[in-house]
Order: sequence, then structure tokens, then C-alpha cells
Amino acid sequence: MRISASLTRIIGIANVVVVTVAVVGLSLLPSEQRPHARPKDVAKVQGSVAPPSQTPVGEPPGVVATPEFARQVHANEAGLVPVLMYHRILAKRLASIDRTPDQLRKELEKLAEQGYVPITARDFATGDIKVPAGKFPVVLTFDDGHPSHFALDASGNPKAGTAVAVLQEVARKYPGFRPVATFWINKEPFGLTDRESQAAAVKWLVDHGYEVANHTWNHPNLRVLRKKKVREQIVRLERLLKKLGVPQSRTMALPFGSMPRPKKLARTGSWDGTRYDFAGVFLAGAEPSLSPYAKKFDRGAIQRIQSNGKKGECRKWCSQYWLEWLDKHPGERYVSDGDPARISIPEKLRGKIDAKRGLQVIAY
Ligand SMILES: [Zn+2]
Repeated sequence: MRISASLTRIIGIANVVVVTVAVVGLSLLPSEQRPHARPKDVAKVQGSVAPPSQTPVGEPPGVVATPEFARQVHANEAGLVPVLMYHRILAKRLASIDRTPDQLRKELEKLAEQGYVPITARDFATGDIKVPAGKFPVVLTFDDGHPSHFALDASGNPKAGTAVAVLQEVARKYPGFRPVATFWINKEPFGLTDRESQAAAVKWLVDHGYEVANHTWNHPNLRVLRKKKVREQIVRLERLLKKLGVPQSRTMALPFGSMPRPKKLARTGSWDGTRYDFAGVFLAGAEPSLSPYAKKFDRGAIQRIQSNGKKGECRKWCSQYWLEWLDKHPGERYVSDGDPARISIPEKLRGKIDAKRGLQVIAY
């Protein structure tokens, strides 16, 4: 239709202005409307005009999406995103949810070959998805801070065979495959008991772009705890993270995927004068997550997929099944437009996007 075609052109031209206004407008919101805004951040944002093309290390240079470009790369930022869940990485598996370093490597290589690019759970939950145009975000998550996830060797590098060493190796082999992941830890991160080595481990991870965040103090079933105990479990771990030099958590994973009652306790609250306010609470899950821009996205209960082959209970619901499913249903998958400031979608999916994101939408 003529009207909509010229309208699209006008919208395309107006996009830069609109998004800039939206970003600046957002930065001017009172801080209580922006979870986790600290006074220092507010001052920093207000002091400068939003730079849309800032490119942090390891991230693709920004592009400015247009409807034509979005159509060319089949962008669909209303699509599904796999958030993969790993537990122990052991050469000899002891439980069905364990994976071997070789199984981890094979899964990561397959993801790289299929066009996935890792982002952290924090980037996903906050909608800060920086993935090149035409590629698909994947979130790699490791629960319980097990020693098999990360350790430093004598020369201060990730110890061979740990999850981080495997991920770094895969990233070297596939340069577009960004080595980032989220580690949800408890009171003894990576099996370390002294503060000094805990802090050194966590510092290496944070310095290299990994996210280290909250999986509660000692991994209780939150569903059966009293409200105050739930808050205490979360705050104690927040305080440990702070002592270890980690920025305040924006995400948490529920131990056993078990939701406290009421559900809201997991996302925001305070105990003994310390507040927490997460952008995302993650389940143990059984399916890909909705896009964080989707109207139906529930940041208080984000789905994950257990990494596993297609056996037994995992005949369905685990990673091999779902990654094959997404490959067979490319129209259902999140495809990036390469432009973190805009949300590109086929016109027919416009109704699926959260109304609050309306100004960012490019429909084609
Ligand atoms: Zn756990």
C-alpha cells in the first residue's frame, strides 16, 4: 500500500531521532523507575548524549537498522531464544544432568556453526542484545558455582577442562562466537573457601565479560521457606558478591527452579537493610524463552533448557531436542537486526511486542 510504504520511509528517517529521544528520555526517568540505577550512573548518562554507536570490546560495530535491511537479514526480534542450563562438567558423569567437557565443546561448536552468538543472562533480561545482523543470541548459564566451571591454573589462566577453558577454546576456533556466560553461584563459588581466591576467580570472570550472579546463599528450596528467609538467602549472596567486587546482580536463578510464594519475593525485596531488584529470575525450565521484548515475556519466570542429548526425559525438553527444533523452525527463532537500539520484526508480529517498546520497533 502506498500510504504505508511512504509511512515506512518516514518512520525510517525518523528512527534515529525517535530512538535518541527515547534513550535520553529513559535516562531522565526517576531512578526508582529504572531498576538498579545508581546515582553515579544517572549522572554519567545525563552528562552525555546517548552514543548509539559505542562499541565495547568484543561486540560488533553498531548498524542502523531500516525495514529494508531488517527484511534482508530476516530479523525477528520477537522470536525465541535458547537459554541453556549447565550443571557440573565432569570427564566422568555422575548424574544425568552432568555433561563432559567433550559434550560441552561439541554443543558449543554446533551453536557456533549454526550462527548463534552468546550473550549473558543480564544482557538478555535487560534487553541489551548485541548480536550481529542475521545471527541468533544464545544464553549459556552454569548453576551452583562448581569447581568444574572455573579455576585458575598456576599461570593465572582458566584451568584446562573447565567450562570456561572449553568456551575460550571454542571462541578462538570460531572468532564470531563471543566467550561469555553467566555463573549463578552460592556461598562457596567454584568450590573455593577463602575470600582471596574467590575474589581472584570472580575478578578474572568479570574482567573477561562473564556474569557472576545470585543463586542464593546455600541453595534451599525457596518454595518451602518463610518470606523473610527467602529474602535473607538472596541478600546474603548479594553481600558476598559485593565483597568479591562483583557489580550488583541483575539476574538470579532459582535453586531447583523452585519459586517462592509469593513469586515476587524472588525478584525484588530487602533484608536487613539491603535491597535486591533483579531484571530477570530464571527457572530450571524446559523450553526456549520468549524474546525479552515480547508482551508475554515474564521476567519473573524465564524459561531455560537443560543441556542434554535426546534420551529418557530428554527425548523432548532438553538442548539437543530444542536446538534441532529451532533449526527446523527458523521463523520461530530470534534473529538479530544487528542494531541494539531497535527491535526489528516481520509486520505480522507487531502485536506480540510489549507496548512500552513501541518506539523502538521496525516492522517490515
Ligand atoms: Zn542450583
